[in-house]
Amino acid sequence: MEKILTEEEQRLFLDLIDNAKKVVICAHVSPDGDAIGSTLALKHWLTRKGKQVTIVVPNIFPDFLHWLPGAEDIKVYLKHEEEVQAVVTEADLFFIADLNESSRLQELETCVLANPAPKIMVDHHLNPADFCQLVISRPDMCATAEVICHLLYQLGELEQITQDEATCLYTAMMCDTGAFTFNSNRAVVYECISYLLNSGIDKDKIYRNVYWTYSLARMKLTGYLLYVKMETIPEMHTSIITLTNKERKLFGIKNGDTEGIVNMPLQVSGMRLSVFLSEDTEHAGVVKVSLRSVDDFPCNTMSAQFFNGGGHKNASGGRLTCGMEEAVQKVHEAIKSYAHLLNGPSPCSPKGERND
Ligand code: 5GP
Ligand code: MN
Repeated sequence: MEKILTEEEQRLFLDLIDNAKKVVICAHVSPDGDAIGSTLALKHWLTRKGKQVTIVVPNIFPDFLHWLPGAEDIKVYLKHEEEVQAVVTEADLFFIADLNESSRLQELETCVLANPAPKIMVDHHLNPADFCQLVISRPDMCATAEVICHLLYQLGELEQITQDEATCLYTAMMCDTGAFTFNSNRAVVYECISYLLNSGIDKDKIYRNVYWTYSLARMKLTGYLLYVKMETIPEMHTSIITLTNKERKLFGIKNGDTEGIVNMPLQVSGMRLSVFLSEDTEHAGVVKVSLRSVDDFPCNTMSAQFFNGGGHKNASGGRLTCGMEEAVQKVHEAIKSYAHLLNGPSPCSPKGERND
């Protein structure tokens, strides 16, 4: 395990917590498993320290995370604007979890930045912006939850964490690594997990709770998207899937129902890049872009350059303010500009790819 704070940072961290009564923990827009799991773990831990803690997120999070202990108390800004604004205004300490720039707070950004109370960033995205008093940022780690594990280790508290805290942290790490199938080769990840298991969590049940909860609608939508909507560009080893709000309605699907569909085309041998475009359900005229890749293809650079976004090398996202047709054109433009990385021989299969 690693010490991730200098002695000075550790003193600052503990002082900031000591001096706080009302803590607000924020996560990014469209919170994922790491965002929700990490904020919940922090909340449980800070509550044990006698703090009054509220988690606020910009918009709703997927149903497959609602079983997490404490999820029912998370405040969603788009649902309870006034209540969230009040709690944010009264906070005397903020945790900014799983995000690196304040714009990722979307509608929450203005009111969080309006409160001058100290802010602690706990995150693992590249290039953390400079708006927090203490920045605990480790892009080499697989999830914000891993950063929290090391933090608790450094404070001598990892061995005593509760089952609820460990459940939230394990879920978060599992979600950000596709159940430990990517971004999870560092042995220390499993050291963290070993501590979490010692608290008595049931990791097999956590897996089922998250991944085996598809609605029938999602199953049928997946079939439709793969059979009817997936466009492949074989010479570029790339696929594009589009989803409109009309189709969402037709299949009766909810927000979280599309989670993970973007990963599926990468199961095809030789596929390097998968693009998923979906009309934003909360903002008309906006298309959300999700990118996934294998090996060294840099989704985050492509996303920053073409889709107003960013993220990790193999998993990034962004947004386009336009209609679906225009968004697809933009994707083709991006693919063309990255042709040198997409259309050559695969770096991992020098003898050629399977052609079955
Ligand atoms: P997803 O495809 O699941 O929405 O996002 C994958 C990853 O890309 C997220 O974990 C996040 O790191 C990043 N990401 C998604 N949307 C945006 C965005 O609009 N801006 C930035 N900077 N990063 C994003
Ligand atoms: Mn994360």
